Amino acid sequence: MIAPDWFREDRLPHIYCTGCGNGTVINCTLGAVEEMGWKREETVFVSGIGCSSRAPGYILTDSLHTTHGRALAFATGVKMARPDLNVVVFTGDGDLAAIGGNHFIHACRRNVDMTVVCMNNHIYGMTGGQGSPTTPPGAISTTTPYGASEPAFDLAELAVAAGANYVARWTSYHVKELTKAVAAGMQTPGLAFIEVRTQCPTNYGRHNKLRRVSDMIEHLRSHAMLVEKRDRLVQEGKPVPDDIFTVGELVRRNRPAMGVKS
Ligand code: SF4
Repeated sequence: MIAPDWFREDRLPHIYCTGCGNGTVINCTLGAVEEMGWKREETVFVSGIGCSSRAPGYILTDSLHTTHGRALAFATGVKMARPDLNVVVFTGDGDLAAIGGNHFIHACRRNVDMTVVCMNNHIYGMTGGQGSPTTPPGAISTTTPYGASEPAFDLAELAVAAGANYVARWTSYHVKELTKAVAAGMQTPGLAFIEVRTQCPTNYGRHNKLRRVSDMIEHLRSHAMLVEKRDRLVQEGKPVPDDIFTVGELVRRNRPAMGVKS
Protein backbone atom coordinates (compact mmCIF):
# COMPACT_ATOMS: atom_id res chain seq x y z
CA MET A 1 0.00 0.00 0.00
CA ILE A 2 1.30 3.44 -1.01
CA ALA A 3 -1.08 5.25 1.34
CA PRO A 4 -1.96 3.11 4.39
CA ASP A 5 -3.55 6.10 6.17
CA TRP A 6 -6.29 6.12 3.52
CA PHE A 7 -7.05 2.41 3.72
CA ARG A 8 -10.17 1.12 5.49
CA GLU A 9 -8.78 -2.09 6.95
CA ASP A 10 -12.05 -3.06 8.60
CA ARG A 11 -13.47 -3.74 5.11
CA LEU A 12 -11.09 -6.66 4.54
CA PRO A 13 -11.23 -9.16 2.98
CA HIS A 14 -11.84 -7.26 -0.24
CA ILE A 15 -13.91 -8.71 -3.08
CA TYR A 16 -11.29 -8.58 -5.84
CA CYS A 17 -10.09 -11.77 -7.53
CA THR A 18 -6.43 -12.73 -7.34
CA GLY A 19 -4.53 -10.82 -10.02
CA CYS A 20 -7.25 -8.22 -10.64
CA GLY A 21 -5.81 -4.89 -11.77
CA ASN A 22 -8.21 -2.76 -9.76
CA GLY A 23 -6.06 -2.75 -6.62
CA THR A 24 -3.12 -1.35 -8.60
CA VAL A 25 -5.28 1.47 -9.94
CA ILE A 26 -6.63 2.32 -6.47
CA ASN A 27 -3.07 2.33 -5.11
CA CYS A 28 -1.84 4.67 -7.86
CA THR A 29 -4.79 7.01 -7.31
CA LEU A 30 -4.12 7.16 -3.57
CA GLY A 31 -0.45 7.80 -4.34
CA ALA A 32 -1.56 10.83 -6.36
CA VAL A 33 -3.84 11.97 -3.52
CA GLU A 34 -0.86 11.81 -1.14
CA GLU A 35 1.25 13.74 -3.63
CA MET A 36 -1.45 16.42 -3.71
CA GLY A 37 -1.43 16.64 0.10
CA TRP A 38 -5.20 16.36 0.21
CA LYS A 39 -6.86 15.78 3.58
CA ARG A 40 -9.36 12.99 4.14
CA GLU A 41 -12.09 15.35 5.41
CA GLU A 42 -11.79 17.46 2.22
CA THR A 43 -11.97 14.55 -0.23
CA VAL A 44 -14.95 12.53 -1.46
CA PHE A 45 -14.83 9.36 -3.58
CA VAL A 46 -17.83 8.54 -5.77
CA SER A 47 -18.59 5.42 -7.81
CA GLY A 48 -21.36 3.64 -9.69
CA ILE A 49 -21.72 -0.14 -9.90
CA GLY A 50 -19.25 -2.86 -10.82
CA CYS A 51 -15.98 -4.28 -9.53
CA SER A 52 -14.16 -0.96 -9.99
CA SER A 53 -16.96 0.87 -8.23
CA ARG A 54 -16.34 -1.04 -5.01
CA ALA A 55 -13.12 0.97 -4.62
CA PRO A 56 -14.45 3.88 -2.50
CA GLY A 57 -15.59 1.35 0.12
CA TYR A 58 -11.94 0.57 0.87
CA ILE A 59 -10.93 4.20 1.32
CA LEU A 60 -11.17 6.04 4.62
CA THR A 61 -13.14 9.11 3.52
CA ASP A 62 -16.76 9.98 2.98
CA SER A 63 -17.86 8.24 -0.19
CA LEU A 64 -20.88 7.59 -2.39
CA HIS A 65 -21.45 4.15 -3.92
CA THR A 66 -24.32 5.06 -6.22
CA THR A 67 -26.50 3.51 -8.92
CA HIS A 68 -25.29 1.96 -12.16
CA GLY A 69 -23.88 4.55 -14.56
CA ARG A 70 -24.80 7.52 -12.38
CA ALA A 71 -21.54 8.21 -10.56
CA LEU A 72 -20.83 11.36 -12.58
CA ALA A 73 -24.32 12.75 -11.94
CA PHE A 74 -23.91 12.25 -8.17
CA ALA A 75 -20.36 13.63 -8.30
CA THR A 76 -21.60 16.71 -10.18
CA GLY A 77 -24.15 17.26 -7.40
CA VAL A 78 -21.46 16.99 -4.73
CA LYS A 79 -19.26 19.49 -6.59
CA MET A 80 -22.08 21.98 -7.18
CA ALA A 81 -23.09 21.88 -3.51
CA ARG A 82 -19.53 21.87 -2.12
CA PRO A 83 -16.97 23.21 -4.60
CA ASP A 84 -14.43 23.27 -1.76
CA LEU A 85 -14.26 19.44 -1.77
CA ASN A 86 -11.91 17.33 -3.88
CA VAL A 87 -14.07 14.88 -5.83
CA VAL A 88 -12.67 11.66 -7.30
CA VAL A 89 -14.79 9.18 -9.28
CA PHE A 90 -13.92 5.51 -9.77
CA THR A 91 -15.77 3.86 -12.63
CA GLY A 92 -15.48 1.01 -15.12
CA ASP A 93 -15.99 0.76 -18.86
CA GLY A 94 -19.51 -0.67 -18.58
CA ASP A 95 -20.61 1.75 -15.86
CA LEU A 96 -19.14 4.81 -17.60
CA ALA A 97 -19.65 4.19 -21.29
CA ALA A 98 -22.82 2.07 -21.55
CA ILE A 99 -25.57 2.98 -19.08
CA GLY A 100 -23.57 6.03 -17.97
CA GLY A 101 -22.53 7.19 -21.44
CA ASN A 102 -24.77 10.23 -21.49
CA HIS A 103 -23.53 11.41 -18.08
CA PHE A 104 -19.97 10.91 -19.30
CA ILE A 105 -20.20 13.16 -22.35
CA HIS A 106 -22.13 15.86 -20.50
CA ALA A 107 -19.81 15.90 -17.47
CA CYS A 108 -16.92 16.39 -19.95
CA ARG A 109 -18.87 19.07 -21.85
CA ARG A 110 -19.61 20.91 -18.59
CA ASN A 111 -16.01 20.32 -17.58
CA VAL A 112 -16.98 19.75 -13.95
CA ASP A 113 -13.96 20.07 -11.66
CA MET A 114 -13.36 16.46 -10.66
CA THR A 115 -11.00 13.57 -11.35
CA VAL A 116 -12.47 10.53 -13.08
CA VAL A 117 -10.43 7.31 -13.06
CA CYS A 118 -11.86 4.64 -15.34
CA MET A 119 -10.68 1.05 -14.91
CA ASN A 120 -11.20 -0.20 -18.45
CA ASN A 121 -10.93 -4.01 -18.44
CA HIS A 122 -13.02 -4.39 -21.62
CA ILE A 123 -15.73 -6.45 -19.95
CA TYR A 124 -18.51 -6.45 -17.37
CA GLY A 125 -16.51 -8.24 -14.67
CA MET A 126 -18.89 -8.28 -11.74
CA THR A 127 -21.92 -9.63 -13.59
CA GLY A 128 -20.14 -12.51 -15.29
CA GLY A 129 -18.21 -11.26 -18.32
CA GLN A 130 -20.70 -9.73 -20.72
CA GLY A 131 -19.36 -7.60 -23.59
CA SER A 132 -19.07 -3.87 -22.87
CA PRO A 133 -18.68 -0.81 -25.14
CA THR A 134 -14.91 -1.29 -25.00
CA THR A 135 -14.77 -5.03 -25.75
CA PRO A 136 -12.34 -5.23 -28.70
CA PRO A 137 -13.63 -6.64 -32.01
CA GLY A 138 -13.13 -10.38 -32.04
CA ALA A 139 -12.89 -10.73 -28.25
CA ILE A 140 -14.83 -13.52 -26.55
CA SER A 141 -17.31 -12.64 -23.82
CA THR A 142 -20.42 -14.37 -22.52
CA THR A 143 -22.56 -12.25 -24.87
CA THR A 144 -20.13 -12.53 -27.81
CA PRO A 145 -19.22 -16.24 -27.75
CA TYR A 146 -18.08 -16.13 -31.41
CA GLY A 147 -16.14 -12.87 -30.98
CA ALA A 148 -17.35 -9.27 -30.63
CA SER A 149 -18.54 -7.89 -33.94
CA GLU A 150 -18.94 -4.22 -32.97
CA PRO A 151 -16.27 -1.50 -32.91
CA ALA A 152 -15.10 -0.44 -29.44
CA PHE A 153 -15.30 3.04 -27.94
CA ASP A 154 -12.04 4.90 -27.42
CA LEU A 155 -12.88 6.39 -24.02
CA ALA A 156 -9.97 8.83 -23.84
CA GLU A 157 -10.62 10.23 -27.33
CA LEU A 158 -14.29 10.54 -26.42
CA ALA A 159 -13.39 12.63 -23.35
CA VAL A 160 -11.13 14.85 -25.47
CA ALA A 161 -13.88 15.41 -28.04
CA ALA A 162 -16.49 16.10 -25.35
CA GLY A 163 -14.39 18.81 -23.70
CA ALA A 164 -12.53 17.51 -20.62
CA ASN A 165 -9.60 19.75 -19.64
CA TYR A 166 -7.20 16.89 -18.90
CA VAL A 167 -7.17 13.46 -20.54
CA ALA A 168 -4.57 10.71 -20.23
CA ARG A 169 -4.41 6.97 -20.75
CA TRP A 170 -2.08 4.43 -19.16
CA THR A 171 -2.27 0.80 -18.10
CA SER A 172 -1.97 -1.15 -14.86
CA TYR A 173 1.61 -1.98 -15.97
CA HIS A 174 2.64 1.71 -16.02
CA VAL A 175 2.25 2.41 -12.31
CA LYS A 176 4.63 5.40 -12.07
CA GLU A 177 3.27 7.07 -15.18
CA LEU A 178 -0.30 6.42 -14.04
CA THR A 179 0.30 7.94 -10.60
CA LYS A 180 1.84 11.03 -12.21
CA ALA A 181 -1.05 11.34 -14.66
CA VAL A 182 -3.69 11.15 -11.92
CA ALA A 183 -1.81 13.83 -9.95
CA ALA A 184 -1.56 16.02 -13.08
CA GLY A 185 -5.30 15.60 -13.60
CA MET A 186 -5.98 16.57 -9.99
CA GLN A 187 -3.89 19.71 -10.48
CA THR A 188 -5.80 20.74 -13.62
CA PRO A 189 -9.02 22.72 -13.00
CA GLY A 190 -12.00 21.16 -14.76
CA LEU A 191 -12.71 17.53 -15.55
CA ALA A 192 -9.70 15.22 -15.58
CA PHE A 193 -10.26 11.86 -17.21
CA ILE A 194 -7.71 9.10 -16.80
CA GLU A 195 -8.43 5.86 -18.62
CA VAL A 196 -6.54 2.86 -17.27
CA ARG A 197 -6.41 -0.28 -19.39
CA THR A 198 -6.33 -3.02 -16.79
CA GLN A 199 -6.71 -6.76 -16.41
CA CYS A 200 -9.73 -8.85 -15.49
CA PRO A 201 -8.17 -12.31 -15.47
CA THR A 202 -11.38 -13.98 -14.29
CA ASN A 203 -13.84 -12.87 -16.94
CA TYR A 204 -11.71 -11.55 -19.80
CA GLY A 205 -8.28 -13.16 -19.75
CA ARG A 206 -9.29 -16.78 -19.40
CA HIS A 207 -11.70 -16.55 -22.38
CA ASN A 208 -9.21 -14.71 -24.60
CA LYS A 209 -6.05 -16.84 -24.53
CA LEU A 210 -4.55 -14.70 -21.76
CA ARG A 211 -4.98 -17.17 -18.95
CA ARG A 212 -2.17 -16.01 -16.68
CA VAL A 213 -2.18 -12.58 -15.07
CA SER A 214 1.34 -12.04 -16.38
CA ASP A 215 0.06 -12.75 -19.93
CA MET A 216 -2.52 -10.00 -19.56
CA ILE A 217 -0.05 -7.47 -18.20
CA GLU A 218 2.45 -8.31 -20.94
CA HIS A 219 -0.34 -7.89 -23.50
CA LEU A 220 -1.12 -4.42 -22.12
CA ARG A 221 2.56 -3.45 -22.05
CA SER A 222 3.34 -4.66 -25.55
CA HIS A 223 0.28 -3.06 -27.18
CA ALA A 224 0.71 0.38 -25.58
CA MET A 225 2.39 3.02 -27.76
CA LEU A 226 3.32 6.49 -26.55
CA VAL A 227 1.11 9.05 -28.24
CA GLU A 228 4.22 10.99 -29.33
CA LYS A 229 5.57 7.89 -31.09
CA ARG A 230 2.24 7.33 -32.86
CA ASP A 231 2.22 10.98 -33.99
CA ARG A 232 5.78 10.67 -35.25
CA LEU A 233 4.94 7.59 -37.30
CA VAL A 234 1.95 9.40 -38.81
CA GLN A 235 4.07 12.47 -39.63
CA GLU A 236 6.70 10.33 -41.28
CA GLY A 237 4.05 8.49 -43.29
CA LYS A 238 4.94 5.18 -41.65
CA PRO A 239 2.29 2.58 -40.83
CA VAL A 240 0.79 2.48 -37.33
CA PRO A 241 0.00 -1.10 -36.26
CA ASP A 242 -3.75 -1.76 -36.05
CA ASP A 243 -3.59 -3.50 -32.70
CA ILE A 244 -1.90 -0.79 -30.60
CA PHE A 245 -3.50 1.81 -28.38
CA THR A 246 -1.91 5.10 -27.40
CA VAL A 247 -0.78 5.96 -23.88
CA GLY A 248 0.31 9.27 -22.41
CA GLU A 249 -1.25 12.68 -22.04
CA LEU A 250 -3.82 13.32 -24.78
CA VAL A 251 -4.83 16.83 -23.75
CA ARG A 252 -4.22 19.45 -21.07
CA ARG A 253 -6.09 22.70 -21.69
CA ASN A 254 -7.95 25.50 -20.00
CA ARG A 255 -11.57 25.51 -21.14
CA PRO A 256 -14.03 27.22 -18.76
CA ALA A 257 -14.95 24.76 -16.00
CA MET A 258 -17.75 24.29 -13.45
CA GLY A 259 -17.33 23.85 -9.70
CA VAL A 260 -13.74 25.08 -9.48
CA LYS A 261 -12.64 26.09 -5.96
CA SER A 262 -12.63 29.85 -5.50
FE1 SF4 B 1 -11.33 -7.97 -11.04
FE2 SF4 B 1 -12.55 -9.24 -13.03
FE3 SF4 B 1 -12.51 -10.34 -10.60
FE4 SF4 B 1 -14.00 -8.17 -11.08
S1 SF4 B 1 -14.28 -10.21 -11.98
S2 SF4 B 1 -12.66 -8.51 -9.29
S3 SF4 B 1 -12.70 -7.04 -12.56
S4 SF4 B 1 -10.72 -9.95 -11.92
